[in-house]
Amino acid sequence: MKDYGLYINGEWVDSESSRRFETRSPIDGRVLATFPLATPGDVERAIDAAEAAFPAWKRTPAPRRGEILLRAAQIMRARKQELGELVTTEMGKVIAEGKGDVQESIDFLEYIAGEGRRMLGETTPSELPNKFCMTVRQPIGVVGCITPWNFPTAIPIWKIGAALITGNTIVFKPASLTPLCVARLVEIFEEAGLPPGVLNFVTGSGSAVGNAIVESPRVQAISFTGGVPAGREIYQKAAKFLKSVELELGGKNPQIVMPDANLDLALEGVLFGAFGTAGQRCTATSRLILHQDIYDKFLGMLVDRVEKFKVGNPLDPETDMGPVVDQAAGEGIMSYIEIGKGEAKLRFGGERLTGGLYDQGFYIQPTIFETEHGTRISCEEIFGPVLSVIKVGSYEEAIEVANDVEYGLSSSIYTRDVNLAFRAIDDLVTGITYINAPTIGAEVHLPFGGTKNTGNGGREAGTAAIDEFTEIKTVFVDYSNRLQKAQIEHD
Ligand code: NAD
Repeated sequence: MKDYGLYINGEWVDSESSRRFETRSPIDGRVLATFPLATPGDVERAIDAAEAAFPAWKRTPAPRRGEILLRAAQIMRARKQELGELVTTEMGKVIAEGKGDVQESIDFLEYIAGEGRRMLGETTPSELPNKFCMTVRQPIGVVGCITPWNFPTAIPIWKIGAALITGNTIVFKPASLTPLCVARLVEIFEEAGLPPGVLNFVTGSGSAVGNAIVESPRVQAISFTGGVPAGREIYQKAAKFLKSVELELGGKNPQIVMPDANLDLALEGVLFGAFGTAGQRCTATSRLILHQDIYDKFLGMLVDRVEKFKVGNPLDPETDMGPVVDQAAGEGIMSYIEIGKGEAKLRFGGERLTGGLYDQGFYIQPTIFETEHGTRISCEEIFGPVLSVIKVGSYEEAIEVANDVEYGLSSSIYTRDVNLAFRAIDDLVTGITYINAPTIGAEVHLPFGGTKNTGNGGREAGTAAIDEFTEIKTVFVDYSNRLQKAQIEHD
């Protein structure tokens, strides 16, 4: 077990404060490491370092910056097993998903390193002769990145990779439940040759550290992934400084199953979507919208499979579902299960597991409710292994139910009717729609994000990541050797 410091200007340093917090494994409560509860003063030091490093990093050609990202990806690839085990140990998702988290990070770094050779602008004709018009991309400056715990390497890497390739310098705050994974990433970037001050890492609470990042006029942009309450607060505070804010927030993602669907495929989809990562994904399937013609049959198939689910140690490759991330999360989920018992019909699960390893963490049965649309469990984000099953009479009703929530991240429909599939692409009001695939499964070279309360309109990943972290400069080059007046010279 190691006592970490903060990483500022290329060095691990002490915080001004001597207060520390522990990161524990959700598997068995074991303490994995300790980190400083940093102060706003520490954040100022990190911003100083990021500001000082910015001019040289901005001048470094983007393909050269990309080489460092690529080296980081290579180090991660060589250490994928170890890093995957760390993700599983610190966050609790099953090992296949822990390694998937790391693979997503590698994929993104490789993709975004290549963007360093594109970073595309536009060229377009001028309305005047002998004049050239184009746009170029410039970094924003010092950016603040604040992340949640559920993808402890992938979400940080989406932000770090995109911010770095575009020439920004970073003050990074990880979730306090998973700082060790991010500390490991910082070490990897150092090993890959990232210059001091380009990436700074400060740990501690959202209210002290996160807030100091958001409220600093010297931090030009914020990239935040987390819940709606924190996102809303950050957006409001950042508005005072008119700073750019990218928000990736919650979800209440539906999977629709139509009568003509391949039911076996739809079953695999909902099992993975609802109970993968113990339902703690922003894109988790938390609503299963079943057409009445297949309702009883499909629900029966689902319960049969979930009954056989193995909940246990996520490091064991045979385990289907691990613990939820901590006691507070577990209690929050259990309180929703209690609400569900009052307003809906519990079809499976609904209990916290006890005995042996179960007593050392917070393990919850995969839980299925049959409910009407409009209940709290069918509309509010639970962020746990709880699935609301809703019966509908038609495609139109399925779409109405799917769209009638505050979130709009991901959605899915299983049907073999190509016309219906394309109608659903038009009709589902979400940032991501899957046809014949579960609501989870982002690919890094495509934009990721949602509508309504899932965010504020931006997207991460894909080329959208370049938009997030750059300012567009419009450039006019007049080679006529005379004063040309746009608009005015027009008769
Ligand atoms: P959270 O909002 O509690 O915390 C996220 C991060 O923000 C943490 O680092 C936290 O310390 C910090 N923070 C909290 N309050 C802050 C404040 N006022 N100012 C600055 N920083 C603050 O979320 P969580 O519990 O870590 O994660 C779960 C949530 O994240 C869920 O709602 C989930 O849907 C969402 N999420 C969204 C996406 C997405 O891409 N849309 C991905 C993963 C998770």
